[in-house]
Amino acid sequence: MRGNDQTYDGGCVCRHVRYRLTSKPMFVHCCHCSWCQRETGTAFALNALIESDRVELLAGKVEVLDTPSASGKGQRIARCPKCQVALWSNYAVPRIGRAIRFVRVGTLDEPQRVPPDIHIFTASKLPWVVLPRGMPAVAEYYRTAERWPRESLARRAVLTSGGKSTAA
Ligand SMILES: [Zn+2]
Ligand SMILES: [Zn+2]
Repeated sequence: MRGNDQTYDGGCVCRHVRYRLTSKPMFVHCCHCSWCQRETGTAFALNALIESDRVELLAGKVEVLDTPSASGKGQRIARCPKCQVALWSNYAVPRIGRAIRFVRVGTLDEPQRVPPDIHIFTASKLPWVVLPRGMPAVAEYYRTAERWPRESLARRAVLTSGGKSTAA
């Protein structure tokens, strides 16, 4: 086990970038939208949503690239400048977009510790991806207040009020 059971370490393939999530994420999306399919070159993206200030850079630095997104507002994807692996992104949503990072779960050393909480945009899910029975899934997006656990909503509320989060 790396770190401790409250933290999650990860990095790119060339190991120039190493990072640590200093707490459990707030919520985890498995996104089946066609944008994520194209960006990852595969069937879906797996993103852990966490406060930006809970992503600590342990080694190296990232290069941030503006990338088009479905909303038209774009997202800023942080990549390793050497191997170009995408590590996380921030969406161009006012205030909260900067405050929440979408960390690519597959770049964690132990991605099995961060399973999805919901499958989104299943309208464009590839037919051979079969979701477990009872797994939360929505055709497009969802209302945060209806799906996030209470504890995560409280963490998100700190961000929308402009406060700084404290590590759990
Ligand atoms: Zn790299
Ligand atoms: Zn997507």
